[in-house]
Amino acid sequence: MQVDNAVRSYGLHINGHESPPGTNMVDRHSPATGRLVARYVAGTVEDARAAVEAARTAFDTGTWPHLSGQDRSRILNRLAALTRRDAEQLARIEAEETGKPLRLARGDVAASIGLTEYAAALALTMHGDVHTNLGPGFTGLVTREPAGVVGMITPWNFPLLLLMQKLPFALAAGCTAVAKPAEVTSGTTLEIARLTVEAGVPAGVFNVVTGRGSVVGQHLAESEHIDVLSFTGSTSVGQRIIQASGVNSKRLSMELGGKAATIVFPDADLTAAVDGVLFGVFFNQGECCVSGARLLVHQDIADEFLSAVVSRARELAVGHPLDEDSDIGALIHAEHLETVLNYVNIGRQHGARVLLGGARLDSPELRDGFFFAPTILDEVTPQNPAFQEEIFGPVLTVTRFGTTEEAIGLANSVEYGLANTVWSKNIDTALTVGRALHSGTVWINTTIDGAPQLPGGGVKNSGYGREMGQVGFDEFTEVKTIQIRTGQREPFFR
Ligand code: NAD
Repeated sequence: MQVDNAVRSYGLHINGHESPPGTNMVDRHSPATGRLVARYVAGTVEDARAAVEAARTAFDTGTWPHLSGQDRSRILNRLAALTRRDAEQLARIEAEETGKPLRLARGDVAASIGLTEYAAALALTMHGDVHTNLGPGFTGLVTREPAGVVGMITPWNFPLLLLMQKLPFALAAGCTAVAKPAEVTSGTTLEIARLTVEAGVPAGVFNVVTGRGSVVGQHLAESEHIDVLSFTGSTSVGQRIIQASGVNSKRLSMELGGKAATIVFPDADLTAAVDGVLFGVFFNQGECCVSGARLLVHQDIADEFLSAVVSRARELAVGHPLDEDSDIGALIHAEHLETVLNYVNIGRQHGARVLLGGARLDSPELRDGFFFAPTILDEVTPQNPAFQEEIFGPVLTVTRFGTTEEAIGLANSVEYGLANTVWSKNIDTALTVGRALHSGTVWINTTIDGAPQLPGGGVKNSGYGREMGQVGFDEFTEVKTIQIRTGQREPFFR
């Protein structure tokens, strides 16, 4: 795996082969330094069609869906071991292409390995039910089969991790797949494709076509040869995909945007809560679907709590992704930096007060990259667009509440429902609020936590379907009921 200062050049990965890089390439410049770091093919509709055909053939006539769970498990464990072998290089590629700190990218790789090992275990335990209490001579088998060809479309904020929330689970179930990574961060997806070959995944089972969403992604959404489309990305693109995918009633799993709240009650461990609020919003530069972008803090502790949050936020190191000391890296590209800045300005126009940051960082060391200061906006009303809309940057909005009901109402008053966090040491408060929040995940006295066994996903405009855990695996299986009558049965018509 090549990770020195040379430019990485990739082809497309179709039917077990990587094509040579072509003439129509997408150049990826580091968002931190502007240096050209990688080049990927701008795939065409014909490329996407060829990849889908390879996956379809591998599913319909290949061995993969019929391998024993033990064989699939063995191959997935090999993939996990190879990912572990190449962990440092994968983390570096991820940091260079996304702008996130290398330290955090290592965490993404470790989590991806954990997901692969967990999925390997699920391959062993894929089984159905036998019903023997249906009356004499009547037996029912409820079986689980691989769902077919899976299209996987992923965004740029966690290119590796979000792929691995899908791929090992689909492979464990016996599905074949075509992945379309985000156009600016395709490196680790293509590296994983190379590792699947090394691990022994047969040709055609996993294919990758890079390029534009409106070309390659759109084809996957429209293709009638795809059975399941698993999408992670923005709500607006998700809605376009839902419309385009109707052609063959394919099953959809939609992991869309979010606007999580972090609710802090006076009886919380406030030191831990300050730490959680900062990690919740500034992790991955705030480019995180479950980012705790809205702080709801009880009015009795608000001033003191905020002053602790601001002073700790000042200590965070914004810096180069490959610098081991960086806490916060660069935003993904110039347009996104403009969007974040624009939201801060709109927030101010709607009455917000800037407690910290609010602008691009342009010191000599950071001038070549898209670095944005950790930003805290106080006095943000629920009507403020900065409160309602996904900013997807290092921007925390602060709103005070008086009662528990008010906190719940504020948290639920947005169109999204991906995740929320509650800080309280009172079990009654924590659980009552946790149960009343409209989101696929609630963290209590922790945030942006997880384990491969625990599913994630959204409600409302954050989408539907779940990834990870047993239910995430089940999304890649189809239930078939087989009903058997034995012995002499009564005729249907007399
Ligand atoms: P995006 O929606 O712009 O792009 C996501 C993917 O869709 C990319 O690969 C893109 O090329 C592709 N795409 C674009 N247009 C398409 C089309 N017409 N048809 C098919 N595919 C198309 O999202 P992004 O900007 O890359 O990522 C940020 C968004 O992702 C945020 O809204 C964030 O909340 C969301 N996200 C959600 C989760 C989750 O688990 N719910 C996780 C991470 C990110």
